[in-house]
Amino acid sequence: MIRTISLVGAWLIASGATLVQADSSFEPANFNVTAALKGYGVDTSSIPALTNLSKRSTESACLAACASLESVFGSEKVLDQENTSYTTFTDAFWSEQQAEVRPSCIFKPSVNTDVAIVVLLSQLTRCPFAAKSGGHAAFRGASSSPGGITIWFTDMNEVSLNEDHSIASIGPGNLWGRVYKALEPYGLAAIGGRESSLGVGGFVTGGGISFHSNLYGWALDNVESFDVSLFFAPGVKCTYLRPI
Ligand SMILES: Cc1cc2nc3c(=O)[nH]c(=O)nc-3n(C[C@H](O)[C@H](O)[C@H](O)COP(=O)(O)OP(=O)(O)OC[C@H]3O[C@@H](n4cnc5c(N)ncnc54)[C@H](O)[C@@H]3O)c2cc1C
Repeated sequence: MIRTISLVGAWLIASGATLVQADSSFEPANFNVTAALKGYGVDTSSIPALTNLSKRSTESACLAACASLESVFGSEKVLDQENTSYTTFTDAFWSEQQAEVRPSCIFKPSVNTDVAIVVLLSQLTRCPFAAKSGGHAAFRGASSSPGGITIWFTDMNEVSLNEDHSIASIGPGNLWGRVYKALEPYGLAAIGGRESSLGVGGFVTGGGISFHSNLYGWALDNVESFDVSLFFAPGVKCTYLRPI
C-alpha cells in the first residue's frame, strides 16, 4: 500500500470514492481569499506586489504572484527566469512540448500548507498554475504553466514506512527509482512505474500500470489514502479512502 501526500487543492476529490467531511469539499460562495491567506500566516497587505491587482494584465499578475511567493518563502523556493536552475528545470521535462514552456516562476513547496498558499495566491492574482511531479506528461501545459506558476514538488520527497511495514508514505515529489531504492533495504517494492524517472504524482493520479499489476492491480488500487490540502479551509485535512 502507498500513501501519497499533498495533492494540489481538491483535484483528487473529483475521482475519489469515499470521502471524509464531504460537506466541506467545495469552496463556499462567500469565500474570502485574503482571509484564508491570513489563516496560513500570510498578510497580503504587507506585500507591496499585491497592490492594485484589479488593474493588472495576466503577465503582470504573474509577476505579482511570483514576487509575493518570494516575499513569503524566500528566493530559495522561487526560481525566476533569470535563475540558473530555471533552465535546468525546464530542460528536464520528458517532452519537448513541455520543455519549451516558460513559466513566470517555479515554486518549490516544502509542506502541504505551502501548496495551499500558492493556490490561494494564484486565485487572488488570477495567475494560472500547473503542478509537476516527474514531468512525463507529454503535452504543453500539462505540468508546466505557460507564463504562470509551475509548482515543482521536488522538496516534498518523503519516503517512510509505518511500523509493520505494510504502508509507505510517499511524497509527490518522488520519482519511482528513488522510491524503489528507499524500499529495497526492507526487501519491499511498490506498485510503481516501469521507468525510474516517472513521477509518483502523475503516475498514481493517472492510474499507474506497474510490472506487478497482473498480480496486484494498478497503483491507484493500492493507495491506502491521499492527504489533500484544502486551500479554502485552513486546518482541514481531507482523506481519500480506497474503495473496498
Ligand atoms: C517514458 C515513459 C514511460 C512510462 N511508463 C509508464 C508505465 O510503466 N505505466 C504507466 O501507467 N504509465 C507510464 N507512463 C505514463 C505516465 O505514467 C504518465 O505520463 C504520468 O502522468 C507521468 O507522471 P509524472 O508525475 O512523471 O508527470 P507530470 O507531468 O509531472 O504529471 C502528470 C500530470 O499529473 C499531475 N500531477 C502530478 N503530481 C500531482 C499532484 N501531486 N497533485 C495533482 N496533480 C498532479 C500534473 O499536473 C500533470 O497533469 C510512461 C510515460 C513515459 C513518458
